[in-house]
Amino acid sequence: MEKTELKNIVILATGGTIAGKASSGTQMTGYTAGAYSVADLLAGVPELGELAHISGEQLCNIDSSSITDALLLRLAQRCNELLAQNDVDGVVITHGTDTMEETAFFLNLTVKSAKPVVLVGAMRPATAVSADGPLNIINAVKVAVDAASTGQGVLVMMNDEIYSGRDVTKTNTANVATFKATNGGPLGFIVGGEVHYYYRSVRPHTLQSEFDVTGVTVLPRVDIIYTHIGEDRVFVDAALAAGARGIIYAGSGMGSIHEDVEAALSYPDLNVVGCEIIAFDAQTDLFSDACIQKIHDKNLYAWVNAITLGDVRTKPLYAKLDDDVSILQDPALGWGKLFEKKIDIIQTDWPAILYQYRQKILGVE
Ligand code: ASP
Repeated sequence: MEKTELKNIVILATGGTIAGKASSGTQMTGYTAGAYSVADLLAGVPELGELAHISGEQLCNIDSSSITDALLLRLAQRCNELLAQNDVDGVVITHGTDTMEETAFFLNLTVKSAKPVVLVGAMRPATAVSADGPLNIINAVKVAVDAASTGQGVLVMMNDEIYSGRDVTKTNTANVATFKATNGGPLGFIVGGEVHYYYRSVRPHTLQSEFDVTGVTVLPRVDIIYTHIGEDRVFVDAALAAGARGIIYAGSGMGSIHEDVEAALSYPDLNVVGCEIIAFDAQTDLFSDACIQKIHDKNLYAWVNAITLGDVRTKPLYAKLDDDVSILQDPALGWGKLFEKKIDIIQTDWPAILYQYRQKILGVE
């Protein structure tokens, strides 16, 4: 291919075994992950220059067991920045294999582009005899420049197999044939050095995903708890005490929950006084008077958020009966309608003005 026809691919390097260094060619465990820089990695595979215009960026250089929420956010935001550029056609992320499936799943839901994003790693350090990293990187770039990779969501390329970030999981701690999608299989393969797809993921990802990390600086705390015979509520109590906003409970069978844990999850110590309603538009059931009545029947306050979020055009919190309408147009079109709907609590950025309006309309202090 003529040099001018080559696509532009950015390699974002994060560390892992693919950049790992051992003391001998036969040392396959106990080596240092994330020892080589992205420049070292690229220097080791000059063949990449025939496949694409390559540039490298070092995001971090660590064992992937130490990836943090902050790094995940940075990675998603950097992918979005790069992929929005006309002179970037795809991104390849070098990553440790231990948590590659988590990063791939996260990016599959938060990258906002149809351009290819391919995660790649290695099971053997860069210093190993038969290191798998160099060929994996070459294959990852081949996947990233292939037209059929557009719109496939975030992909994982390992051991000649292409997986959807939604399905892939690491199944063996040492074998190079470790990545699998147990309920389906790979989307495609590298055969004879060429990319061949056979399937595609139809679940929402990237551009269809509702998740958007633009401007997000922290992720809510969500803990994962794995059940077993003899479990007690200690871990659930600890997660709640640590402020978990959610718990992924890996239950037994079809999600059965140990009875002690179920008791802990019923929040016996919490006094529930109200319920926030979020309704994108007036057509949703949550906007209906019946819904508000249901909340009142339980002696709970109905709470609505009138704060205007930056992305309010796409995500109104309560059918656009919000501060923007109330302040910029007429309070009767926003807050006034909330009074009519018997909402008990209105969250606002303009408490003093809302207070005066409430006095005027309802005559209450
Ligand atoms: N511990 C390494 C890591 O995840 C394993 C690997 O990359 O294969 O960074």
